[in-house]
Amino acid sequence: MKLCVFDDYRVGLVVDQSVVDVTELIADRVDPRDRMTELIERWTQLHDRVRAARSSENRTPLSAVTLRAPIPRPRVIVAAPVNYQKHQAEMGGEGGVYEGASIKTIETYAGFVKASSSIVGPDGAIEVPSADRRIDHEAELGVVIGGVTSRIPHDRALRHVFGYVPLLDITMRGEEDRSFRKSFDSFTPIGPWIVTADEISDPGALDMELRVNGEPRQRASTRDLIYGVPRLIELYSAAMTLRAGDLIATGTPSGVGPLIPGDQVSLKITGVGHLIMRVRARAVAA
Ligand code: MN
Repeated sequence: MKLCVFDDYRVGLVVDQSVVDVTELIADRVDPRDRMTELIERWTQLHDRVRAARSSENRTPLSAVTLRAPIPRPRVIVAAPVNYQKHQAEMGGEGGVYEGASIKTIETYAGFVKASSSIVGPDGAIEVPSADRRIDHEAELGVVIGGVTSRIPHDRALRHVFGYVPLLDITMRGEEDRSFRKSFDSFTPIGPWIVTADEISDPGALDMELRVNGEPRQRASTRDLIYGVPRLIELYSAAMTLRAGDLIATGTPSGVGPLIPGDQVSLKITGVGHLIMRVRARAVAA
């Protein structure tokens, strides 16, 4: 199933090129921005009713709704640093993004946390905070956690996945800590929807392609992840308790490059979704 958040934070099931509103299945007391998290939390009870909405006649064309980030405010976003070998190679050494630097991999760095407030959806834009700093795109597979996930071994990890989402880990290059450079507002675009885990037989065999203004920049397969999805869940759940709707950014392949205002970024992950984001200069604070 494909699940989206649209218009006034309503929750929808995507069927073909349309949306069936399933918001009424979710309790009124929940803040609209937490409806999807609530749906994921109560998925065991609600899943049959959401599935049944497939045959509803009451559909709205996707083109007539505004799609938002499918999880508007996850509690935690944990992310994998340098989790593809070819990306390690392009980041350091001669001609690297960090010229001459010795870059290690996830085996050394393990993980970092991004601010939850960096989430943005297809209804928004990636905002460049400063014209004199380099801002890069990083194409990533996002993993959506299904429920309380603590100290889970590798072989049981995939049971804790609710679904998958195209995710961009937008990054300012520089000397500051990763968590600072990657946590600016709008630096974690996700969407256009979540695909439930039952539709993805192997998260370690997904093709992805990122284009900027139509030009291919990143092409890869999740086969080349150094730590695959089960290993990431084992690693992060050993440190912190993850909950329904929390996100894991699995790391980016080679081909990262700068973005400037006016660009359009497109990330397609086969079987998951196609996220398109505009880039603009950050608005002056009110
Ligand atoms: Mn990344």
